[in-house]
Amino acid sequence: MLEANLAPMWVEKNGVGVVIVFHDLTAIRRLEQLRRDFVANVSHELKTPITSILGFAETLLDGALKDPDTCREFLKIIHDESLRLQRLIGDLLDLASIESKKLHLNLKTVFVDSLIQSAVKTIEDQVRAKGQRLEVHIEEPFEIEVDPDRFRQIILNLLSNAMNYTPQGGSITLDVSREPHRFRLKVTDTGVGIPPEDLPRIFERFYRVDKARSRDSGGTGLGLAIVKHLVEVHNGEIDVKSKVGTGTTFTLSFPLKQDRDGPG
Ligand code: ADP
Repeated sequence: MLEANLAPMWVEKNGVGVVIVFHDLTAIRRLEQLRRDFVANVSHELKTPITSILGFAETLLDGALKDPDTCREFLKIIHDESLRLQRLIGDLLDLASIESKKLHLNLKTVFVDSLIQSAVKTIEDQVRAKGQRLEVHIEEPFEIEVDPDRFRQIILNLLSNAMNYTPQGGSITLDVSREPHRFRLKVTDTGVGIPPEDLPRIFERFYRVDKARSRDSGGTGLGLAIVKHLVEVHNGEIDVKSKVGTGTTFTLSFPLKQDRDGPG
């Protein structure tokens, strides 16, 4: 419910009692504005690829089909834009299920090194193809309790961002360390960095520092919002430090074991 109630108050006058309930209208309006912005953003994000797909398909039907080179070029655009739509819808569904608290974590005890290596495997060829270096440092293998698929999603989102926002020749490092009851993950890149004024907003849905760059790299603008939620449902924390032109470090910290009786 879009309501933020302040504590109800009992007021009595001339022997007649009344309960007064205060509604914090500022909070309600802010939530409504957020919801409106989100719907507007989703519509815009869906409209852009659909307009492109329709436009190129119509041009093909109007006669461009006859030229094989044009045909291939237009079909490639239609294909890429369809993939973008697929990613966007996948991310939106993910976000919706996480935010509605319907996400059921499938907790398992796994070795951190094998989980991280399996995530790294899916991206290392792309990193190499971009002429970047990817290094993983794990002091010593240890067990963690997480949802392996969701945890892999966190790592892959951060690694693919590091790859997308780092130029050729740059490097990406993933450090894993253990503390008495927690473990820490650090994803560092030598990429473009994030200006200080944008840093507090990068976990917002659809917030991008450089729209064109995000689009070119196939970004949906939802990756970090999803990461933040997934970190929180694992009772973890995420922090970011960055310097423009030098690079970015995301630091994540999680309990080694989930508290099944506590919140979350
Ligand atoms: P996107 O799909 O656009 O990458 P994200 O939610 O994953 O969306 O990230 C939001 C924005 O944060 C990105 O558009 C980018 O501007 C910035 N960003 C995220 N990770 C990095 C990084 N490692 N280096 C520089 N900028 C980053």
